[in-house]
Amino acid sequence: MNFILEENEEIIKKSADIGYGGKLSRSNNELILTNRSIVLIKKSLLGKVSDIIRFPLSDIAISNGKAQVALGQRDIVTPTLDIYFKSGVQSFRFTWEDEVNEWVNEINFVLTGNSDIYKKDDLAEDILKMTDTFVKASKDVKKVFGIDSDKIMSAKCPSCGASVKGKAGETVECPYCGNYYTFDE
Ligand SMILES: [Zn+2]
Repeated sequence: MNFILEENEEIIKKSADIGYGGKLSRSNNELILTNRSIVLIKKSLLGKVSDIIRFPLSDIAISNGKAQVALGQRDIVTPTLDIYFKSGVQSFRFTWEDEVNEWVNEINFVLTGNSDIYKKDDLAEDILKMTDTFVKASKDVKKVFGIDSDKIMSAKCPSCGASVKGKAGETVECPYCGNYYTFDE
């Protein structure tokens, strides 16, 4: 059983070790966000794909310009991504809270163009700003020397159509199918 992208469907985000279902269900599933759907790749005990469930993004409720997705808590140690579909809520168990927040932002970005739902706390924000300044400074230095190899480019994987990102001249592995793609210099 293979997950096949639909025409013009692109993979945006992918996470492993996802739990789905009752408390005793396995947590070795994969969750994929595309520009169309959230796809749950259910795996058997031996890691084989046993089922593929598509949840269309168009079924996610939107209210006040926000997609109804949120970080939940199954128990003290298990953060969940709770998605409110028109047909009911679906809950996916994650390992890390931050990863759930990234999903919340990405889903919002795809559905509403707003990716700023979860903001880092002030300290984290300051660190981000500092990092930003350093990155800018080093870019300026590179510009002075005429080096601009830092630009991230995007291309379609020739094998599966997923979007791959990389720099000029770099060879990257497609996050979905494992095919290698080399960006032009
Ligand atoms: Zn690919």
